[in-house]
Amino acid sequence: MLIGVPKEIKNHEYRVGLTPAGVRELTSAGHDVVVETNAGLAIGLDNAQYESAGAKILDSAEAVFEQADMIVKVKEPQPNECKMLREGQLLFTYLHLAADKPQTDLLMASGATCVAYETVTDAHGGLPLLAPMSEVAGRLAPQEGAACLKKANGGSGVLIGGVPGVSPAQVSVIGGGVVGLNAARIALGMGANVTILDRSLARLKEIDDMFGDKLNTLFSTEEAIREQIKIADMVIGAVLIPGAAAPKLISKDMLSTMKPGSVLVDVAIDQGGCFETSKPTTHQEPTYEIDGVIHYCVANMPGAVARTSTFALTNATLPYVVQLANKGKDALAANPHLLEGLNVHKGQLTCEAVAEAFNYDF
Ligand code: NAD
Repeated sequence: MLIGVPKEIKNHEYRVGLTPAGVRELTSAGHDVVVETNAGLAIGLDNAQYESAGAKILDSAEAVFEQADMIVKVKEPQPNECKMLREGQLLFTYLHLAADKPQTDLLMASGATCVAYETVTDAHGGLPLLAPMSEVAGRLAPQEGAACLKKANGGSGVLIGGVPGVSPAQVSVIGGGVVGLNAARIALGMGANVTILDRSLARLKEIDDMFGDKLNTLFSTEEAIREQIKIADMVIGAVLIPGAAAPKLISKDMLSTMKPGSVLVDVAIDQGGCFETSKPTTHQEPTYEIDGVIHYCVANMPGAVARTSTFALTNATLPYVVQLANKGKDALAANPHLLEGLNVHKGQLTCEAVAEAFNYDF
């Protein structure tokens, strides 16, 4: 199969669909790969590295879309990319269609077979192609929150790890899933006192087994959150209710009970945010202040560390890219978990949640 990797064109998107190592796996298996010129240059992956892995470099996105049997990307295709897709072509990337009717319509009009990373499942009911970005966002959250705590950034002036004789910061993580666990791990490494709150007792037991007495676990109730935010220097919001908007766990009224200059990092902002006062921000202007509390609500946190994110993403997607390259669309019939990723096929919506979102036939 001929696999095409265009340069990402969304604003400030520096990730790329395949690393040179990913390209090597495909070319070694007998496939051809074309990569748009300088697709990975911004993150230190230059044309020469792709060429030495066996890829051919093409001058334009048009050439990549025209030649490839399968397009491998990172972000959802932008309108002019959708228009370059054709019937019979495979598209493998993040799509997030339920929030994007224009894109859904363009993909249906293209006739292409579109497989979304975010709906591919695994044998444990997890989302293996979403998990690497949750790991990145989770590990980044305390790092970004620590910067917000600095006086120059409007924060309280607390150093996460403290020093001998001065207490470390209290970091409270609401939601102990992939994001929460990774956030807690880094906060602990920075020397914070860490508490994880979750509504799943089974999850709290797992976390307790993993960390022992290095952190505290707390069953998540409104009362527990009210008490926790009074003592927290940083609260990380990392909850997810699959298929639903994030629940609002900290109301505007509650902000006045927090320490002045404390920080809310709302990682769940891509699902609407789990604090009432959250609104999406960008890497250019990541924070704002309400009632003395600094809010960090960047909706695409992994984009800040595009190099790490690219390698993490290729590690996770590559086995599926190889299956699709080896078997074409038959790979979907052969693997029910990959089939879950199929969102659009030959002009038809094949994902029930997306069809429901727009009242389309399914
Ligand atoms: P996950 O399913 O692994 O974990 C979510 C956890 O939240 C679960 O353990 C669940 O029990 C818990 N939870 C649900 N309701 C709760 C409540 N009321 N109180 C406490 N815990 C509760 O999900 P994840 O992969 O960790 O993702 C978490 C959030 O981060 C999602 O909204 C996801 O979309 C978002 N995310 C954002 C970015 C970003 O760049 N901003 C990147 C990756 C993920």
